[in-house]
Amino acid sequence: MSTAPAAAALRFNARVASMQPSATLGMSARAKQLRREGHPVIALSAGEPDFVTPDFIRAAAIQAINDGFTGYTENLGMLPLREAICEKLARDNGLRFEPNQILCSNGAKQSVALAINALADAGDEVLIPAPYWVSYPEMTRLAGATPVALPTTVEGHYRVTPEALEAAITDKTRIYLHCSPSNPTGSVYPREELEALAEVLRRHEDVFIVSDEIYEYVVFDAEHVSLGAFAGLEDRVITVNGFSKGFAMTGWRLGYLAADLPIVKACAKIQSQFTSAPCSITQKAGVAALEMLKTDRTPMDEMLAAFRARRDYVLGRLNAIDGVVCPKPEGAFYLFPQVAPYYSTTAPSGRAITNSEDLCYYLLEEHNVALVPGHAFGDPAGVRISYAAAMSDLETALDRIETGLGQLR
Ligand code: PMP
Ligand code: GLU
Repeated sequence: MSTAPAAAALRFNARVASMQPSATLGMSARAKQLRREGHPVIALSAGEPDFVTPDFIRAAAIQAINDGFTGYTENLGMLPLREAICEKLARDNGLRFEPNQILCSNGAKQSVALAINALADAGDEVLIPAPYWVSYPEMTRLAGATPVALPTTVEGHYRVTPEALEAAITDKTRIYLHCSPSNPTGSVYPREELEALAEVLRRHEDVFIVSDEIYEYVVFDAEHVSLGAFAGLEDRVITVNGFSKGFAMTGWRLGYLAADLPIVKACAKIQSQFTSAPCSITQKAGVAALEMLKTDRTPMDEMLAAFRARRDYVLGRLNAIDGVVCPKPEGAFYLFPQVAPYYSTTAPSGRAITNSEDLCYYLLEEHNVALVPGHAFGDPAGVRISYAAAMSDLETALDRIETGLGQLR
């Protein structure tokens, strides 16, 4: 006899019921499924470096296993890792923190979620520039707070202006969520624009700032500047970073936040009851990654050179397609072209294209390229392309996109 509860009795927590699943992970899973079924899908959906973690880091993890470093660490993360993070934040970002102000977690995703959950309450608003990373609004909803999108423009390279920020902040704004280099647009805020945003934020003392800097080391011809380094904001900026992108360590699950001590304590309290510290082996690998940053950045430079060549290639191909407009991003490994002129068309198969989802499913199911629809990022006029893929795959994918779009009438 089935022990499954009757459908009517299956009731979920209201906050969970209000959330959407991750569109980036969802699209990537769909692409993998189609590949398993034999379709030659090229997935440009996942935001994940296509490189293996550098040898030096992998060797440190193997050593940790052989040394039997297999127990729980402190909830904040092991001290040598937090010391190394403090050193890196001081050297690369001009941020001064003590090791007890660092909380290591299972990825920057968890760090952002901890910060939102620690600070935002029911009735509070979290201000999120759009296009935004898919997880920010959903994390906000899970915390019981309200996400508020702050639209940006293509002409403004998807960056928030100080005037727009000032106009969007209300009595209810609890967090301003800043992401540079940005997922999904690749935009990087120059220092002078950050100074102007900092000027606005200084005036609003009740607003905390979560600065997601996970793409810090993926920047081209641009300087990464931390918002927390601006005078007057030190106590209110929660700096989030991690190892997934810069060191090609997505599967290891290691990120961290750095903040004023009471904020770190609140986040650590949540972590202590939910997950505890991240994997001990991974933390040893994290120490090695930060060591590599000081001694030999060659593996990272190689990845960066590959990303730059791919960005230039994909950007050139996209902007050559009729009806497609894409600004040149200075960081991360995404492009966010505007494709709305294709939203009132029909494919030769008879499929009607009315929005970003229709377009992505058309390209996936009829042309074997997986992209992520812009509506999941709060900008339905665009789609996201991750160019963290081999050049030969990008060439084929762009041929397919060009053909696919060209067949729409
Ligand atoms: N922030 C942004 C903007 C991201 O794109 C990602 C990628 N998943 C993360 C945070 C989280 O990365 P991770 O949890 O792998 O450290
Ligand atoms: N950040 C990546 C992306 O945007 C990984 C998937 C995810 O965690 O959402 O595709």
